[in-house]
Amino acid sequence: MMHSFIYTALPGRVVFGSGALKQLSEEIGRLGAKRALLLTTANRKANGEALLASLDGSAAALYSKATMHTPIDVTEDALAEVRRVEADCLVAFGGGSTIGLAKAIALRTGLPQIAIPTTYAGSEMTPILGETRDWRKTTQKSMKVLPEVVIYDVELTLTLPKRLSGTSGINAIAHSAEALYAEDANPVVSALAVESIAALGSALPRIAENLADRDARSDAQYGAFLAGACLGSVGMALHHKLCHTLGGLFDLPHADTHSVILPHTLAYNAPAVPKAIARIAGALGVADAPQGLFELSRKVGAPRALKEIGMPEEGIDQATDLALSNPYWNPRPLERQGIRNLIAGAWAGEEPFAVNEGDG
Ligand code: NAD
Repeated sequence: MMHSFIYTALPGRVVFGSGALKQLSEEIGRLGAKRALLLTTANRKANGEALLASLDGSAAALYSKATMHTPIDVTEDALAEVRRVEADCLVAFGGGSTIGLAKAIALRTGLPQIAIPTTYAGSEMTPILGETRDWRKTTQKSMKVLPEVVIYDVELTLTLPKRLSGTSGINAIAHSAEALYAEDANPVVSALAVESIAALGSALPRIAENLADRDARSDAQYGAFLAGACLGSVGMALHHKLCHTLGGLFDLPHADTHSVILPHTLAYNAPAVPKAIARIAGALGVADAPQGLFELSRKVGAPRALKEIGMPEEGIDQATDLALSNPYWNPRPLERQGIRNLIAGAWAGEEPFAVNEGDG
């Protein structure tokens, strides 16, 4: 087969392994820094304080007000703390919300970042930043926000609750799944995507059975790392756009929304990209990718209906209008009836059903 593609590698250093957190001081030093500002969400403040105490001089302070969707007023408050303590480096210790705050500060100051992810969302591997002002979300891409160093330590994921482990893991699968049919898909990223889906697909049910299963947690974290690399490298399509639309309109939880929507978007796109969908099924070890993912969410105890996570039924038409009013690339054209059926099916928690091209 003749290959023809463009692949852009992203710079970044990844330290992966059980106990890798112990290398944080050394990594701060490698960046030439000695006054790191640690960042966490409010409910992970105690973990941040323990980390700060363990650092012995390479960190200056802890800022523990990171908030979902990176509100700009929180960033401005954190910037005052950056100036007050004369920080020379940022350490994001948490999930996508905390990493988002570090990226927002890095964008405005140029400070280097070390990300220590504790969920499977993947933001640490991307040059993408979503921010909100007065509930309006804007997303931008800039190499200034890509963390210089990422430390993955499986020990930090053991406290991730059952539901978030499942939904965050399916959020990661969504990055890899859409990478396989991206407009700018390429064989390097596709290889990462398949490996990532296989690792997560096998790990997530094992984690649901035993949250302290370190092997399964390590597989999931490895899959999430690769999924983040996919998200950072190629463009996403219908699934990610729909999740942003629904999440923004109804203030739905990020990972839950991805988890509910994924089987339905893959069913919608399946007729246009059968080979990519077959690779997803192969990686999951199932006959049908949308059905296999719907079953995976059941196994991991993830929600399967938008009505369960706070979307009102009367929002279905509004969401359909918004999804169609803001056209973006997707392997299958967006057809009103097909998209409305997709959202209505996901709202009710129905099984994903294949919609043949032209049906809508
Ligand atoms: P999150 O960071 O909001 O974390 C969810 C909750 O879990 C928080 O309360 C957090 O404190 C807690 N938590 C995190 N790790 C934990 C652990 N190990 N044990 C116990 N509790 C833990 O959730 P998320 O899903 O990681 O991130 C979602 C946000 O990230 C969204 O705003 C999304 O838009 C953004 N995101 C951005 C990108 C990107 O590339 N820019 C990629 C993925 C997600």
